[in-house]
Amino acid sequence: MEQFTQITLLLIGSVFSLSLAAFGFVSIAEKEQRAVRVSFSGAVLGAVFFILAASLPASTRATLIFILTAILTGFVILFFLPIGIIKTENDIPSKRFDERKIMFARANLKSGTPEYESYYALHPEDKLTDDGSRDKPGLLSPQSKFFDPILFTAPNASFALTSALRDAVDGTPASEKIALTPIEITAYIKEMTHYFGALDVGITPLQPYHIYSHTGRGVGIYGAPIELDHKYAIALTVEMDFEMMGAAPYAPVVMESAKQYVESARVAVQVAEVIRSLGYAARAHIDGNYQVIAPLVARDAGLGEFGRMSLLMTPQEGPRVRVGVVTTDLPLVADARSIDATTIDFCNICKKCAENCPSKSIPFDEREKVDDAARWHINPDTCFAYWNVIGTDCGRCMTVCPYAHPNNFAHNLVRWGIARSGFFRRFALWMDNLFYGRKPAPRPAPAWTDISVKQ
Ligand code: SF4
Ligand code: SF4
Repeated sequence: MEQFTQITLLLIGSVFSLSLAAFGFVSIAEKEQRAVRVSFSGAVLGAVFFILAASLPASTRATLIFILTAILTGFVILFFLPIGIIKTENDIPSKRFDERKIMFARANLKSGTPEYESYYALHPEDKLTDDGSRDKPGLLSPQSKFFDPILFTAPNASFALTSALRDAVDGTPASEKIALTPIEITAYIKEMTHYFGALDVGITPLQPYHIYSHTGRGVGIYGAPIELDHKYAIALTVEMDFEMMGAAPYAPVVMESAKQYVESARVAVQVAEVIRSLGYAARAHIDGNYQVIAPLVARDAGLGEFGRMSLLMTPQEGPRVRVGVVTTDLPLVADARSIDATTIDFCNICKKCAENCPSKSIPFDEREKVDDAARWHINPDTCFAYWNVIGTDCGRCMTVCPYAHPNNFAHNLVRWGIARSGFFRRFALWMDNLFYGRKPAPRPAPAWTDISVKQ
């Protein structure tokens, strides 16, 4: 019995310290300096504690094992208690959204043009804000705060390629339709979309509220009503690199987001082309030429849920994704969407993005209803105005989000718990704050981006 309690304590101590040390090595690879310090300090303290405990008198050791067992049992019981249950609310918008209202469309308006006059005649409330935003240096501008003459060439190149793809989103379908069942063709299209480079793929019936009501930024006549009679929408995500995003809000973040706009556009354009070759109408929806609200389509296709920062939160990468969409007439099998109340519960208690947002654009309050749909809404005007000052698309909210950690065993274990237990969500948030801090500093960018102009 004496030896049993000693061995038990040493075993518990070994598991505790080795797990923390292993997490420390994971954190080194992730360049999470605070997590490295916390992990290795915890591993050493744990080892010392359990070695000392193993040398205590037998009766004290037995008491300690009893206390540890009680704590573990309590944890297991709490894991299964119905804490943080969210009442699901309607999150389907009752109206179509006008693309002319989005900030990118408004930013394109030039004073004196008919588009400018017509928009501000309809929405005079936006004029002051938009004129103020246009007076700022602008995204990727040499006058912006984080301008980098070398690094900014990469996003410029990526945006140029996305622009070139805007005219390739649509085309004429082949005259003969391929004969396959919806089940067969759905499996093929999904695998092929992965093969082209997508991380996740989902399918939803195309709904009227997915489609913008009027063209604001996309190719075509400004202000023209959008008619899109396709039956299905294929949503796809591509991952934004964890290391590049960690340097937000500096230049690497806009390099990465521009690169992934290209990737999502490329995959969508390729998938649409394949479907047209099979004899069915298909249109890709890509940056600068959307007819649908891509994150809304992706949510309904079962790829994630909207979080506090208004972005699609995917199960494995959180908000660290870009979304592309293909709409089509090809008969497909849609995926079922189930509302992920666990993400909503986590966002209710977390608020880390709101605390870290430099422009204070993210709400601290509960979700609100707009067009009958419950959802968090950021202030896009103040967010975009901040981008126009710093020259990058910021991305601090994405980087600090506890869902945005890399897709690996350690973080997936936490994600597994988060998706199953309200108590665990609260515990995981506490752990996230402990390991990464409530206001984490930007992580070091990849070494190759550390380059400057020689004088
Ligand atoms: S940082 Fe927290 S509150 Fe914000 S989106 Fe991520 S999980 Fe939700
Ligand atoms: S991108 Fe930056 S400014 Fe915009 S909401 Fe996120 S943290 Fe705030």
